[in-house]
Amino acid sequence: MNFDKYCRVRLAERIDFADDLAVFRFRPDEALGFTPGQYATLGLEVEGRERPLLRPYSVASAPHEDVLDFFVERLDEGALTPRLWDLEPGDTGWVRRRIVGLFTLDTESARRLHLMCATVTGLAPFISIARAQQHALATGAHAGEPHRLVIVHGASYPHELGFYHDELADLERTTDWLRYVPTVSRPWEADGWNGETGRVGDVLRKHADAEGCTAERAVGYACGHPQMIEHAHAVLQRAGFDEEHLHEEKYFRA
Ligand SMILES: Cc1cc2nc3c(=O)[nH]c(=O)nc-3n(C[C@H](O)[C@H](O)[C@H](O)COP(=O)(O)OP(=O)(O)OC[C@H]3O[C@@H](n4cnc5c(N)ncnc54)[C@H](O)[C@@H]3O)c2cc1C
Repeated sequence: MNFDKYCRVRLAERIDFADDLAVFRFRPDEALGFTPGQYATLGLEVEGRERPLLRPYSVASAPHEDVLDFFVERLDEGALTPRLWDLEPGDTGWVRRRIVGLFTLDTESARRLHLMCATVTGLAPFISIARAQQHALATGAHAGEPHRLVIVHGASYPHELGFYHDELADLERTTDWLRYVPTVSRPWEADGWNGETGRVGDVLRKHADAEGCTAERAVGYACGHPQMIEHAHAVLQRAGFDEEHLHEEKYFRA
């Protein structure tokens, strides 16, 4: 097999949020450039196969970090994810050198207000974007006013929000450019949850209005589960958003 197109990555750490939900933190053998929001093609060698078994994953870490984080949901019947769950720290995989994708912060439209909708692992691109902006501001590399991000992050249960819940809540407290709205759709099974409840599509309009995310001022993004994306798309279209200002990244076909 020709590995020219691939970079070896080594599992540095795995952080489990649930039996079927984890962050895989890989250290690449060489620095791989990318724009926050893009996805990498991650692969594992499988006996009897010429090429690694590959799947695309949004990069959750930011370009300045020396690791590539992937926030992954395990599918028991899936080809790659059960194999990922067998990995131990130190085990290796491959990532295509070219990290690609168009689901990045829209800076072409000159709008600086961004309404970002995610289901569980669909948060990954927005985490990368938020961390990169925070780093650029902290190091003086950011030009002009920060982009304002309004992130609506949905899950069935609070633990599925992972450590990203606390990371984004802290960032919201310590900056003036982030609004983080975690929402859970099964609050009756979530003792002690006193945040937003309901599916992303159902609570989206309320928070968009409260944050001034109008069709004239904001760009809309949706990432993750295709049903949420279709729902969010319809809600924002009804609010007047045109296609030019709506971006989406579907992780699979319904
Ligand atoms: C651009 C892009 C970025 C992605 N980023 C992520 C990411 O950050 N995190 C992540 O967990 N996944 C992400 N995915 C999905 C990922 O590429 C795989 O499809 C997923 O991990 C399943 O791989 P598998 O080999 O285990 O299952 P497969 O054998 O490929 O899939 C089995 C079947 O399940 C469907 N399926 C895939 N994902 C789901 C799901 N979540 N729920 C229900 N059915 C599903 C597939 O369409 C397929 O029909 C992304 C997909 C795309 C296109």
